[in-house]
Amino acid sequence: MNGIVEIIGKVFLGLIGLCIGSFLNVLIYRLPLGMNIASPPSHCPQCNAKIKWYDNIPLLSYLVLGGRCRHCRNKIPFRYFFVELVNVLLWAAVLVLFDLSVYAVGYALVSSVLLAVVFIDAEHGIIPDSLNVTVSLVGAVFTVYSIFEPSIAGMVGTYEVVWWEYLAGGAGAALLYFLVWGLYKLIRKRDGLGGGDIKLMGALGLVLGYRSALLCIGLSAVFACIYLIVRAAMGKLDAEKPFAFGPFIAIAAYLCMLFGNCLTGLYLSLF
Ligand SMILES: [Zn+2]
Repeated sequence: MNGIVEIIGKVFLGLIGLCIGSFLNVLIYRLPLGMNIASPPSHCPQCNAKIKWYDNIPLLSYLVLGGRCRHCRNKIPFRYFFVELVNVLLWAAVLVLFDLSVYAVGYALVSSVLLAVVFIDAEHGIIPDSLNVTVSLVGAVFTVYSIFEPSIAGMVGTYEVVWWEYLAGGAGAALLYFLVWGLYKLIRKRDGLGGGDIKLMGALGLVLGYRSALLCIGLSAVFACIYLIVRAAMGKLDAEKPFAFGPFIAIAAYLCMLFGNCLTGLYLSLF
């Protein structure tokens, strides 16, 4: 694609990413509480004042207002700023690493969903179905689009993922997690994985294709183990307390979106 068009397109997408980051804060707060995500419009949780558009500009408004509500001067949680910042960085990495394409847009959107999963699952221990459905929709678009254009190109190389690999990824990942859940239930007589984890991993398999999905499953388990070992070493591990696995799946999946095809390609080239 023409260089200048590519740059303008990416800057435009980056701006959309900024706005989505702002919207993510709404999702993270309202989805677990079962609230409507469109209304009422954003308001200060402390004084209930409606937030004007110029006080709702991603990243900037928080800095301009010094992290306080314009009306009551109470503090706005730093998390709002943090989520917007991390989201735009996640998008930036995708846009730098991949050529402007349906795949790049899909990866960027999924990275926002994954960020929401991290916060919602860590805080509430659930992964809302609407997030899993959004990821599945991106995977469905990839599956169909790959029939016409299987190449994913960018700084990490050019890789072909054909349509059935997405389907195999979705079905395989969900099935594997379902088996793990069943085995754990059989042995320990309680849930190890949640239904949300199984659905999320299935949806991500559809986005990643089966090779990167396998890598993601392995990585998420490694990350979770490291976390549990560190918690245990600090004497803070409570075996009876439910443990949110979603954040580890999310982090692994993001890395696999960026580098999965490259790493599995390298690995397969060894044989
Ligand atoms: Zn206020």
